[in-house]
Amino acid sequence: MIQKCPHCKTDVIFSRNICPACGHPSRDEERGEATYLGEAKTDGRPVYNQVMETQMTARQRNGRIVTGLICGAIPAPLLAYSAVSLFWLRPDWLVLLGTMYAAWLAYHLWYGRPWARWLGAGSTLLAGCAGLFEAVVVLRSEVAMNAVQIMAYVVFSLVYLWCAGQLARSPDVKEFLVYQFKHTPDF
Ligand SMILES: [Zn+2]
Repeated sequence: MIQKCPHCKTDVIFSRNICPACGHPSRDEERGEATYLGEAKTDGRPVYNQVMETQMTARQRNGRIVTGLICGAIPAPLLAYSAVSLFWLRPDWLVLLGTMYAAWLAYHLWYGRPWARWLGAGSTLLAGCAGLFEAVVVLRSEVAMNAVQIMAYVVFSLVYLWCAGQLARSPDVKEFLVYQFKHTPDF
């Protein structure tokens, strides 16, 4: 645990009651609470993670990472598919529409809209199941089997199912989204 040395006022990790920065001995009750970035020398640059360090709980910070992964994972395969199909000038309008929907959903999810969490959980659950079903269909079809296609279906389906599980059940994600919702102005 990081604490503040009562002698040199540095935030340090104490071992055996001796400050590793100045060597001054102090008992646990004499030490102050660490201010983390309060004393960090930033040379006037803004500290990106100051809010996270000082205001968010460990659970919210963990939820932030998981939510970031989810917001990236939801549009990623659709975006890749759209990019490739546009490059070959064969746009798949259904996938393009899906990409826009995924980007819209990820945006609202990140800013903690309560409905976005459930819409996201439902959408990813549906997409995951549909992807696995599609993989089985491709696997069972008599036409030449495309291993890459099947693997892509299975991998992205599992990712979507993981997203659904995290959104629906993870207390970390829930707490972060509540925090985000409180700290986002209406728009
Ligand atoms: Zn010290």
